[in-house]
Amino acid sequence: MEEDLTTDLVVLQSHLESMFERVQQNSVILQKFRAFEIRLLKLNSLSDIIDHLLEEAKNYFDLDVISLCLIDETGEIAKTLNDNGYPSSSKKGLMLLDSRKPSKLTAIQPYIGVYENAQCADFFPHIEKQPISVAITPLTRRGKYLGALNLGSYQLDRFADNMATDFIEHLSSVVSVCLENNLHVEEIRRVSYLDALTGVNNRRFLEQRIGEELKRSQRNAEPLSCQFFDIDFFKAINDKHGHQGGDQVLSLVAAAIRDQLRDNDIFVRYGGEEFVALLSNTDEAKGLETAERVRKTIHALVIAFDDAFIPVTVSIGISTYQPDSTSISIDEETASRLIKSADSALYRAKHNGRNRVENGGIVLDRQVL
Ligand code: GH3
Ligand code: MG
Ligand code: MG
Repeated sequence: MEEDLTTDLVVLQSHLESMFERVQQNSVILQKFRAFEIRLLKLNSLSDIIDHLLEEAKNYFDLDVISLCLIDETGEIAKTLNDNGYPSSSKKGLMLLDSRKPSKLTAIQPYIGVYENAQCADFFPHIEKQPISVAITPLTRRGKYLGALNLGSYQLDRFADNMATDFIEHLSSVVSVCLENNLHVEEIRRVSYLDALTGVNNRRFLEQRIGEELKRSQRNAEPLSCQFFDIDFFKAINDKHGHQGGDQVLSLVAAAIRDQLRDNDIFVRYGGEEFVALLSNTDEAKGLETAERVRKTIHALVIAFDDAFIPVTVSIGISTYQPDSTSISIDEETASRLIKSADSALYRAKHNGRNRVENGGIVLDRQVL
């Protein structure tokens, strides 16, 4: 009898010890999770969130492989990341997906368990060693599917299909909220720099970027071409074809100019029927050549409106920033001198008969004495 009791006590003690051990383990996991969550909530950009998920989560949660799929229907996420200098296409573990092209990755059910090639391989592309157990967790907010966070381990028992999923569900909810929040911020920022009528960037965008472009030119010792475009006799177009006809001309002229520029050139609607472009690594001769090509393109545009064709031409003024290798910083007034010089050249183009290009010349760094 006494012996039985002693055995029971030993068993009980061992149970208690293992329970205590698990409580301690859970408490460590919880602490790591909190630290991870707090860090995640403090991040202010999409690229930082992606890095945190793909790189840091491994250490926090003792994982071997992580991948992240994000739905990017219109390519805006890729564009935003690239604009911020983040190499999204070469980022290991990151997949940006077009949900209009359905694949296994664009509508998924949560999955926890053994890595099955048929079911899981798409979620872990380009990895050296495939995981043994995985958790594939959809990221959703307000019923919208944002993507999936995929966790993998080289241990079989790390993600078992009978394990409690509340921790993973919590993680995916927090990640979803952070992603949604940052996507909204990026969207608001992007829209605030867009012109609603033409869909090209607006003057605020130019003001925000011109300083950076000048600095880049100076750093790389490359010229920067500034081009000012103004539609000729636009008021007469409005008077003859109404504002809708005028709006149509604005949109088509903007699109035609944009089409002649490189993707990384800055192009904005500056005001009413005026546009400005900044062409990086473009000297005076190349700038004049581009402006002349744009002028000819607009002159050749066939704009049909109602039952009429609207002829349209633009006048263009250009100026060129030539960095000085001895200057170490950009003088704040350089941007306004560059724009002013192109604007004066535009004024001359108007004065000299319109539908022409005039050169405002070179703008140098001002020598600070
Ligand atoms: P110039 O050849 O000297 O440039 O003459 P212009 O008629 O093009 O220039 P002016 O500055 O006299 O007229 C510009 C007109 O552009 C006046 C304004 O009503 C019109 N405008 C400005 N914004 C818009 C717009 O968003 N839509 C339309 N339809 N018209 C606009
Ligand atoms: Mg004007
Ligand atoms: Mg005009």
